Amino acid sequence: FQREIIQSEKLAVVGQLAAATAHEIRNPLTSIKGFLQLLEHRLKTMEQESEIKEYTRIMVEEVDRMEKIIRDFLLMTKPSDVIREQACLNSVIERVLVLVQNQAILRNIQVVTDLTKLSHVLMHKEAIQQVVLNLMQNALEAMNVGGTLTVQTKEEDKHVVLLVIDTGIGMTDEELQNLGSPFYSTKTEGTGLGLTVSSKIIREHRGQIDVQSKKGVGTTIAIRLPK
Ligand code: ADP
Ligand code: MG
Repeated sequence: FQREIIQSEKLAVVGQLAAATAHEIRNPLTSIKGFLQLLEHRLKTMEQESEIKEYTRIMVEEVDRMEKIIRDFLLMTKPSDVIREQACLNSVIERVLVLVQNQAILRNIQVVTDLTKLSHVLMHKEAIQQVVLNLMQNALEAMNVGGTLTVQTKEEDKHVVLLVIDTGIGMTDEELQNLGSPFYSTKTEGTGLGLTVSSKIIREHRGQIDVQSKKGVGTTIAIRLPK
């Protein structure tokens, strides 16, 4: 199965208001979390086992989840007319590889890199790093029983290309159709915003994201950035 992610322009319409709302929600949430943690701390000093301890633990977890969703959401709506610079995609990738190294070891995943020399391209480095991190994180999360994460770069006529290849759970055609829709996630801990943010960033770079996936076999995601 193959498909190109072209994410909805719907986001632009609701984006402004939603971002403002998310911002407003974040403040009381931070306050709730603070008091919950205080409560949790007090309860820890209590001798007997109490259901209340369990309740507060769940509440803290749920607030954490809300914070995560808001963080990812705000990332997506952040204005991105920022400074772009000529940079090498490989150097961004190398930085991300360091970040995900531990997680790969913990998951018993072998990381294979095949980075070829690339022309510099115009990019917002921080944003592209975010995309590369999202893709690698998804790849790692798709491999619960170990596997191989292959990270490849190559140069084409008009683009530099990054391939992130995993031997993970893969996706059905239906799952593939949903890919990139805001909040679409099959993970209990997922926000479903990673690919929405990523495709927005790549689109802003006039690049392209392509996904190929086969259930039970693995997934390949290709990013192309114009030279
Ligand atoms: P999240 O990771 O928070 O779930 P994403 O937007 O990053 O959100 O991904 C959305 C969904 O796309 C995932 O929940 C998963 O179902 C699917 N997905 C993304 N990358 C992969 C992959 N490499 N292998 C299998 N499924 C994937
Ligand atoms: Mg993700």
